[in-house]
Amino acid sequence: MKTRGMLIIADGLGDRPILELDGKTPLEAASTPNLDRLAYGGIVGIVDPYAPGVPCGTDVGTLCALGYDPFKYYKGRGPIEALGAGLQLEAGDVAFRCNFATIDEQGLVVDRRAGRIREGTSELASSLNNICLGEDTVAFFAPGTEHRAVLALRGSGLSPAVSDSDPGTACEGRPMRKIYPLDNTPEAAKTARLLQEFLDIAQEKLRRHPVNLAREAAGLPPANAILTRGAGIINTIPPLAKRYKGIKGALVAGEKTVLAIGKMVGLDIFSGEGITGSYDFDPVAKARLALDLVNKVDLVIIHVKAADLAGHDGRWDLKIKVVEKLDLLVGALMEGLPAGVHVAITCDHSTPCSVRDHSGDPVPTAIWGPAVRSDFQTYFGERSCAGGGLGRITGSAFFNVLMDLLGFTSKLGA
Ligand SMILES: [Zn+2]
Repeated sequence: MKTRGMLIIADGLGDRPILELDGKTPLEAASTPNLDRLAYGGIVGIVDPYAPGVPCGTDVGTLCALGYDPFKYYKGRGPIEALGAGLQLEAGDVAFRCNFATIDEQGLVVDRRAGRIREGTSELASSLNNICLGEDTVAFFAPGTEHRAVLALRGSGLSPAVSDSDPGTACEGRPMRKIYPLDNTPEAAKTARLLQEFLDIAQEKLRRHPVNLAREAAGLPPANAILTRGAGIINTIPPLAKRYKGIKGALVAGEKTVLAIGKMVGLDIFSGEGITGSYDFDPVAKARLALDLVNKVDLVIIHVKAADLAGHDGRWDLKIKVVEKLDLLVGALMEGLPAGVHVAITCDHSTPCSVRDHSGDPVPTAIWGPAVRSDFQTYFGERSCAGGGLGRITGSAFFNVLMDLLGFTSKLGA
């Protein structure tokens, strides 16, 4: 029998003991009656997003949390950023993360971010979009936030094995790098040739662009070159529906990378008022939207970004506040939850405040609902989850367990 479910992905929630909190983690120190209710009535465990001791990025960790082996499908950051920026990509496209940058007459990089340009990037980007290069290849270009942008090359026989034109962070004063192939395949040679052609055309177009002429007149650094990095090829990722008996899923999120991953795996994606990827997210708005969606689909995934931000900022005080907001979200969900719906929570990785970056620590998880064999843990925290009935499993194993409880797995063997 199939049942419906909600899965909360709490970005960067896991943490380490904090001296000022008497050795508790922010999650352990926060007041979380609703998360504790999930732990009390459900089953808990700890999850290694990919493998024990391996810190994951949000992209890799989220793919794992949705049951995918990232290294089978994941090739570079470029494709995910490109999808996030709204480029419609096809299998075989090679995508890059880009910066608008400022170079001088000699081609030396003066500013890798073109003075953190904010205005005019849409106009600049559209002058670089849809450019037919040689050898049946077309370049698509879209702006991201501030100086960031994305590029995708579409043509036959392209490869992500090409070098970056970006000389790297803190490398101002060095020349922009020429593009060369990173292996000896004809595909890499072709891609390197076409990428270089695009970058040359881009410089020519950007040099004369009205936005840049106006910037120069105002004494601002012009965005007159494109730095590329993170080349990746789009692989066809089988949608969740294909892997789990036609499951229909929806994703509620405010963060671009996560929304892009949602699109890649065939989820209907939902953003909107209060559904932000920052501290100011509205927990009740997120819960309401999820409750509305759970009447239409089998699985609603709710992504909450803010705990990760607090970890990166090294602010355990803020992380406690975020955790308490997350708890309000869970409370609002439980209040409106139709009978028979399962609720699960996991994380894409830990972001300890003491590390201010992602770590390889396992993350706390719980599943609550009628099919769950509850364990004896009564609190939702890193340490109490370590003693729970789910034991210690990987991110994709956790997703499989949830899918099995909801009735969307297929039998192995006869
Ligand atoms: Zn993350």
